[in-house]
Amino acid sequence: MNVATPAIEVRQLRKTYRGTTALDGVDLTVGTGEIFGILGPNGAGKTTTVEIIEGLTSPDSGSVHVLGIDPFADRDALRQVLGAQLQESRLPAKLRVREAVKLYASFYPDPVPVDEMLERVGLTDKRSTPFEGLSGGQQQRLSIALALVGRPKVAILDEVTTGLDPTARRAMWQTILDLRDSGLTVVLITHFMEEAERLCDRVALMRGGRIVATDTTGGIIESTVGGQRVTFDVAGRVPVADLERLPGVTGVEVDGSTVHVLGRGDLVTAITGALHGWGVGYERVRVHQGTLDDAFLQLTGTAAGRTEEDR
Ligand code: ADP
Repeated sequence: MNVATPAIEVRQLRKTYRGTTALDGVDLTVGTGEIFGILGPNGAGKTTTVEIIEGLTSPDSGSVHVLGIDPFADRDALRQVLGAQLQESRLPAKLRVREAVKLYASFYPDPVPVDEMLERVGLTDKRSTPFEGLSGGQQQRLSIALALVGRPKVAILDEVTTGLDPTARRAMWQTILDLRDSGLTVVLITHFMEEAERLCDRVALMRGGRIVATDTTGGIIESTVGGQRVTFDVAGRVPVADLERLPGVTGVEVDGSTVHVLGRGDLVTAITGALHGWGVGYERVRVHQGTLDDAFLQLTGTAAGRTEEDR
């Protein structure tokens, strides 16, 4: 990835829908050749952001450039470099898979050959199937084929694995990784934390129309929920102050006889060694590694996959 050469630059986007603030000053820089995830609870502003990048929705203020192109000033140029999936509008029910890809290919000067595109998304054996005869996963793959057939330099993929079974989801992940490795820049909207951790070089977390964090998934976990939480039970007095002074410890919480120690590094060894040394008996040591789910919860106040209104 190359953040120095941005594929997408978004500055101070604002958008209000009849009194509802959808975007409240969004800044994003997506480097060329990276898989960049946009995460956030429902209603956070993810769709509005990508619709503006795609030139489908105009912002109240702010600027967008995709490989230097302003989507609102030069729509035709944008269409040649940006691959976006179908919007809500679906394909005609009777349109066959190969016909659909051929139709989309005809919009571009140098499309991927139709049969090669079908092969890449694993739809070769469905080429004569009408759209209405495809499973959810196959429809998703067709929609990706249509987004990619024009050889875009940047692709925006929105919830591409929703509704897929685990095998199909893994196949889709591999497709996306292969696309990145072939030089494509991918923006991925997802609410699956595992998906973001597996695929994304960097992610932006959105909440209430703002970006609340942008980093690698590891960086976000490290800076929000730190390294680990070690939990154990003690029978007698809890040596809180002594635990707090151990190397790597960033916090100690006591809940009755249960102690939670937060920190980084080789915490378990440090804690158990010290407890032995102090003659403090302990049992049931558990280690919890911080996850993107924990970070998401902390930064957005909402469990992944829930809506802002649920809070
Ligand atoms: P996300 O994709 O993260 O779920 P959206 O960008 O769809 O979030 O929505 C952000 C906010 O803008 C929400 O409060 C949503 O209700 C509102 N919103 C989005 N689109 C419209 C619209 N066309 N009309 C009115 N409100 C909208």
